[in-house]
Amino acid sequence: QAAKVASADKTRILLSEWKHEQDGTVETVSYSQVLAKSSLFARYILQQQQQEQQRKLVAHLNVPGWEYVATQWGAWAAGYGSVPLALSQTAPEMEHVLTQANPQFIVLGGNCRLSGSNTTGKSIQHPTRQPPNAKALLQAAENLGMTDRVVPFETVVSQKPDVSEKDWMLGNGGVLQSLDEPALVLFTSGTTGKPKAAVITHRNIYHQVTDLVAAWEWQSSDVALHLLPLHHVHGVINLLSCAAFVGARLEFQPFDATALWNQWAQPSSSSVSLPPTNILMAVPTIYAKLLEAADTLPQETVQKAVDNTLSSMRLQVSGSAALPVSVLERWRNLTGQTLLERYGMTEFAMALSNPYREDNTVQQRRPGYVGRPLPSVQVRLVDTDTQEVIETEGVSGELQVKGPTVFQEYLNREDATREAFTKDGYFATGDIAQFDGGEIQSYRILGRASVDIIKSGGHKLSALEIERELLEHPDIAEVAILGIPDDVWGERVAMVCRLKKADSEPLTLEGLREFCGPRLSKYKVPSRLQVVSDIPKNAMGKINKKGLVKLFD
Ligand code: ATP
Ligand code: MG
Repeated sequence: QAAKVASADKTRILLSEWKHEQDGTVETVSYSQVLAKSSLFARYILQQQQQEQQRKLVAHLNVPGWEYVATQWGAWAAGYGSVPLALSQTAPEMEHVLTQANPQFIVLGGNCRLSGSNTTGKSIQHPTRQPPNAKALLQAAENLGMTDRVVPFETVVSQKPDVSEKDWMLGNGGVLQSLDEPALVLFTSGTTGKPKAAVITHRNIYHQVTDLVAAWEWQSSDVALHLLPLHHVHGVINLLSCAAFVGARLEFQPFDATALWNQWAQPSSSSVSLPPTNILMAVPTIYAKLLEAADTLPQETVQKAVDNTLSSMRLQVSGSAALPVSVLERWRNLTGQTLLERYGMTEFAMALSNPYREDNTVQQRRPGYVGRPLPSVQVRLVDTDTQEVIETEGVSGELQVKGPTVFQEYLNREDATREAFTKDGYFATGDIAQFDGGEIQSYRILGRASVDIIKSGGHKLSALEIERELLEHPDIAEVAILGIPDDVWGERVAMVCRLKKADSEPLTLEGLREFCGPRLSKYKVPSRLQVVSDIPKNAMGKINKKGLVKLFD
């Protein structure tokens, strides 16, 4: 598709704009340039001695931007699946991924010199495209005896083309035998356990992308800001792949709240005849950090940012974790934009989305509500005790998903794959939801069965619902609600939080009870409390609740 777009309009399409952190320069690359680089990489793969392997995979570590895209498309063009590595990963984490995926090629972005088995990443020409954890990757490859699979990206794609007749055939014939071949191996966020590797096929991606392109009305004239990591479904599918499918412009930028406000405050320069950014997609933590930064910046800058950029965007999406009410409301008050919340997962990209075009008579984008199924997705709710399908509105159960967007399997985890699917082919998400009828006609996410649903004294409580209320407290910046084992109640509601200011009044259980009185039933009010200076989160801004339980030992 990108090839089609690129050849239709070679001069216009710009894919990637990576504002370099160190020197502020901007690199702008067109789709056709990316395709040219990707075909060089594809040819490199095809020229290597091919070993018979169960799965053909390329692992790659790139800073977000065109180089990542060229590597991924090159892998696809050669009939290989892409395994994007995370810029946050340490050597042992890389070892886990590389052992699981056993890739034939390990691409290292930027320009690294490799020296024998004693490998140390050394940047030559592109310090700004150098992954910060390049050394961790080289260390992991060495520990696993995979050093000879490491391929420096720049070295490969800057080689003088040496095209044989066979290469010409390969380059023009296409090597994909079936849409059911693996295209991506994406690791889940590891919120509830060790990350699992989901194998996603070309067919899956096709439906994931076409569903979202239709639902959110992606067009080639769109300009999307890309602040997300590219090893996770949110950044790869919802943003990169949708933009590429329609030939929209993507601007990659590392997230820096203050820099963004300043950038948005600038009027779009008339010397550049490019349309302004009109799509923003992020996780709730990013919106929360933007709001925090807005409080400390001069009001004039924030107002200019709203007037010049934010208020005229056509789409602002939040997902990957629950969107707090206060974030939705403060963002709306500040920018006039109501964030569109949706629900998705590594295993199928998106399943439920609030409508892009809102029905003005019913405010559909409400906190906790994530809308309805996308066109090719079937969903149902199932009682977790009886496994019976729930037909009654307002009754909660496990959300199960079926359709061509749902992944093939967990890599090397036959047990986990078998457990994840029902006999009639639904994928059991492990998330609890309910369908609310009436005027809203929307699904509401209550949280994960394993960590967010607290069973206390015969009640099943939603941690997300309690968190949403507590975030309204004037002193609370971040909060995690968890269930801790209790002999009498089964589980008790425990709370871990970070306060907005170090000098806030100390938070007490009594004070909390008073605050919660008019908002929450008594049995939902936390009875254990830990105030911490930081709640650790992973690269997607998610809290590992299982890890927090030990604070209450
Ligand atoms: P792991 O599967 O390794 O435990 P994870 O489930 O967090 O990690 P992801 O696939 O990144 O890995 O996240 C999917 C999960 O994120 C969903 O199952 C759901 O619990 C949560 N989620 C996504 N969107 C929303 C949303 N809008 N509201 C609430 N939760 C959401
Ligand atoms: Mg999961």
